[in-house]
Amino acid sequence: MKKVNTIILLLILSITISFCKKSNSSAPNTPVTPITPVAPTPEKDFTNSTAVEYYGPLKVSGNRITGKADAAVQLRGMSFFWSQWIGKYYNASVVKWLKDDWYCNVVRAAMAVEEGGYLTNPDVEKQKVFDVVDAAIANGMYVIIDWHDHHASDHQALATKFFAEIAQKYGDKPNIIYEPYNEPLQVSWKTIIKPYHQAVIDTIRKYDPDNLIICGTSTWSQDVDVAAYDTLVGTNIAYTLHFYAGTHKQSLRDKAKVALDKGIALMVTEYGTTDATGDGFVNQTETNLWYDFLDANKLSWCNWSIADKAESSAALFSGSSASGNWMNVQLTTSGSFVRQEMRNKNLRFK
Ligand code: MG
Repeated sequence: MKKVNTIILLLILSITISFCKKSNSSAPNTPVTPITPVAPTPEKDFTNSTAVEYYGPLKVSGNRITGKADAAVQLRGMSFFWSQWIGKYYNASVVKWLKDDWYCNVVRAAMAVEEGGYLTNPDVEKQKVFDVVDAAIANGMYVIIDWHDHHASDHQALATKFFAEIAQKYGDKPNIIYEPYNEPLQVSWKTIIKPYHQAVIDTIRKYDPDNLIICGTSTWSQDVDVAAYDTLVGTNIAYTLHFYAGTHKQSLRDKAKVALDKGIALMVTEYGTTDATGDGFVNQTETNLWYDFLDANKLSWCNWSIADKAESSAALFSGSSASGNWMNVQLTTSGSFVRQEMRNKNLRFK
């Protein structure tokens, strides 16, 4: 009898433990990693075509960037870091990983000009751009070729030579997007930046009549409202808007709205989730407000940056492989957050 009682007691105890375990596993405060892989869903899966096949050649229609059948196109992807400092990620296997795992449909090659960049090593830096562009074409992605310079108007002859070469080499490919002037400083749009852009545009158009050219604006590509009142001459011209969510908030969105309402098209070729220094707190709340604005206005974007530098805007922790295949634990807070945004909203292409 004593033995039977013990068995019953053990049975009750075991049922209680099993119930407690179940309750714990479904507790609402169970930590959830924000970068748990998202299983592809059929409605997101367009693996029978590439992004470029799906959206087609891009053009500017009023204040929108459009593709096939004049439908507005919003691209989301990643910018590489200054090519002369962190050039190790400028390769085909990283580009393919960004498409397959991050769902990027655009990448940006940020070719450094000063500080050991193109001015010093033109062939070396140019080759990094070619490697990324060739990989983007092979993967059916869009690619922004960025003259990453704060003083491009001082290097106009070299810039026009560079873009003439790019236009002759790649101008027949719908993948290519030109960005002739990353971030002009606080200099005159009318007398310095605009004449520079016009010279580069006129040169590109000798060889390539149609691919998008996205033009930087004064104050680190924030004064898009100024450009909207004094526009460049040419077809398929849009303007660069840059922001860093920890620093630039509603007042910059208001400037962008003025520019859009005036009728120019914008592309966010670079933004960060952090302060404008590229470092500091990763401001997910403000970045989400920006995402709402970008989505509402169909503005394409590239996040800064694919780098393993010890600063919070870098997407990767130090030492992350130069060939992609990154594990979730190698992604920083910013990298995880931005990757998840793309996996949630971009289509998954071949
Ligand atoms: Mg073309």
